[in-house]
Amino acid sequence: MPDCYCGSSLSFENCCEPYLKNQQKAPTAETLMRSRYSAFATGAADYLVATTHSSQRKFHKKGDILEWSKSNHWVKLEVLATTETTVTFKAYYLDSELKAQIHHEHSTFIFENENWYYVDGEYF
Ligand SMILES: [Zn+2]
Repeated sequence: MPDCYCGSSLSFENCCEPYLKNQQKAPTAETLMRSRYSAFATGAADYLVATTHSSQRKFHKKGDILEWSKSNHWVKLEVLATTETTVTFKAYYLDSELKAQIHHEHSTFIFENENWYYVDGEYF
């Protein structure tokens, strides 16, 4: 059984998949972030829209998310630091020309109505 896309030692079925299928709610900002990375890796744009805070959704169009998700090959995720509401990470990917890229972001999350949501990020 391969490890989950998010780099945990668990299988996808026992890690991010239940969140992507809305069978479970991500219990922390970090698990939500990890599941969103797995959503990028699997092209789960609906999940990415649903887990973006309502105030920010207008900046993240589903078509753009899907294109960004599909045009890159997602190699691995490295979580560098976490607090209750923030995650700093590096997402390694190959762009559409197969050049190695790193997306380095400090993301902020909010817990609202029993769900964690991605609010926004600072890029490095
Ligand atoms: Zn995972």
